[in-house]
Amino acid sequence: MSNQLAGLIKKAGVVGAGGGGFPTHIKAESQVRCVLANGAECEPLIHKDVELMEHHAAEILNGLQLMMQATGAERGIVGLKKKNAGAAQAFRKLLAGTDIQLLELGDFYPAGDEYELVQLATGQLIPPGGIPLDVGCVVCNVETLFNINAAAQGIPVTHKFITVAGLVHEPKSFWVPIGTPYRDLLEFVGGVTARDFSLFTSGLLMGGMSTNLDDTVTKTFSGLIVLPADHYLVTRKNRSIEQMNRIGKSACDQCTACTEFCPRYLLGYEIQPHKVMRSLGFTTSGEGYWNRFSSYCCSCGICTLYACPEDLYPREACEQSKLTMKQAGENYRQDHKPQVHPMKDFRRIPTKGLLRRLRIERFEVPAPFASGFPKPGKLVISLQQNAGRPSQPIVQEGGSVTAGDLIADLPGDSLGATIHAPLSGRIEALNNHGILIVSN
Ligand code: SF4
Ligand code: SF4
Repeated sequence: MSNQLAGLIKKAGVVGAGGGGFPTHIKAESQVRCVLANGAECEPLIHKDVELMEHHAAEILNGLQLMMQATGAERGIVGLKKKNAGAAQAFRKLLAGTDIQLLELGDFYPAGDEYELVQLATGQLIPPGGIPLDVGCVVCNVETLFNINAAAQGIPVTHKFITVAGLVHEPKSFWVPIGTPYRDLLEFVGGVTARDFSLFTSGLLMGGMSTNLDDTVTKTFSGLIVLPADHYLVTRKNRSIEQMNRIGKSACDQCTACTEFCPRYLLGYEIQPHKVMRSLGFTTSGEGYWNRFSSYCCSCGICTLYACPEDLYPREACEQSKLTMKQAGENYRQDHKPQVHPMKDFRRIPTKGLLRRLRIERFEVPAPFASGFPKPGKLVISLQQNAGRPSQPIVQEGGSVTAGDLIADLPGDSLGATIHAPLSGRIEALNNHGILIVSN
């Protein structure tokens, strides 16, 4: 069963839909004790997982059961936030008589971090630098499980479920063909309500920003958040790395708040962003030593966007340090077992407090499930939508495709994923980066 499901998942091009993009067939090939459905969505203003759970709990649950069978897991757990009562109720109705539990979590950030979720669900800590598999677990985002259920029926991944929120006429959550330009998404929600705006992609804390409405949806994209161009978060995000470093070097007083609120530090991992800030060069000892304290940073953004009273950039310092270590071929391994900090439960970041700190309370509104989806005239399909190597196109310029056709294959034996045509149309252009389809 394991190989059969893994084969179907591989064929359908399923990758982690929560943002990681890890090819899911690899997870289906493993043997574990527990499969966790991750529905603990916590990026502010993005509500796609909650909406998907409310409307498609049966498909998600079936995907979870298929993964449990394939991996030999005796336990299945659905992790979601207690406040999302509609989603919890949708699962509760279906769970009677199954060996799957519902794990209702508090409303804090980042409840959906794999390390956090595994610890809360099983009491186990993933070894430093490890993955859930190291403690006998597989974690799949709820949309990934929906896609696994479809893959088992021979249906490939062609659409992505997303939220568009913020300064738009009708915030909503909906399916969209992969490759759809952002401008079509904004049109589908009735347009933007401000003249000067900025676009955040896939989340305010862990996502990025885009200045190009022709950028397109991928298999790991969670949605768009539109904020005023002069919003606090836009100003903070738009600083150059040089500016961030300069401010950090002059203003960091080593108060340690960034470390004391770091969720990974509180789980017991050797991550101390205040020490990493020293790598910016305000001590006499070398950055090589301070860089190591960044190794287990998951880029959650708490230190930069919530904890630091000076509005500095410890997360960005950690990201630079990790890169420096990688380029130097250095690898730091924590030599002691992680142990949960006694203050962990008291230092959780409540979503309400986070919304206040990010100055986005007024944008936090429902983004209800919408049926129907944009039908763009053209799709630009990236060949790099997953962890691992880019997919290899198998179509020719000028050729036609039917929705669901394979258009790019796995990169040989390397880690990667297939890609299928989301809509029928003609291949207008093709290069190493993507495929342009003009839809019929
Ligand atoms: S919280 Fe800010 S000021 Fe305090 S140590 Fe961290 S980066 Fe420096
Ligand atoms: S981004 Fe900051 S708070 Fe989050 S894991 Fe990294 S160091 Fe810790």
